[in-house]
Amino acid sequence: MGQLTLPQDGGCRCGDVRFTISAPPLLAMACHCTGCQRMSSSAYSLSAAIPSDGFEVTKGDPVIGGLHGATRHFFCPTCMTWMFTRPEGMDWLVNLRPTMLDDPSWFTPFIEVWTWEKLPWATTAAVHSYETLPAMEEFAGLTEAYSEQFRDAPPSA
Ligand SMILES: [Zn+2]
Ligand SMILES: [Zn+2]
Repeated sequence: MGQLTLPQDGGCRCGDVRFTISAPPLLAMACHCTGCQRMSSSAYSLSAAIPSDGFEVTKGDPVIGGLHGATRHFFCPTCMTWMFTRPEGMDWLVNLRPTMLDDPSWFTPFIEVWTWEKLPWATTAAVHSYETLPAMEEFAGLTEAYSEQFRDAPPSA
């Protein structure tokens, strides 16, 4: 497994949208919900919850896709890659699809959610599984346990 280096750039399939992250994720997640199965065209979506002030689009103008609801799903306007999500009521974080990063080798999901909807064969490396979502009061403990691995990471530029 690779090690997270910061800052780190990433982008969509075609390169029209590029971004930089300058902070480690608060949490790493796989979501097996049927919505993510459809939007990812795959078995589950991956999210690295990056603090909003550690995430910056540096090239291009991502557009809203998905359900066009209160939770905003951002896509490249050219190649239509689903790049990141700004979840409703959580302005402090951006759920980045970690495979957009130029080096996603450090990423491992820590929790997986909506497993009751998952494809029967779909498994992940997550150490905590939830049939739906963790209770709101569990998130503080989960982010603290997950963040421990980045405590000695070099300070971001
Ligand atoms: Zn693109
Ligand atoms: Zn989902």
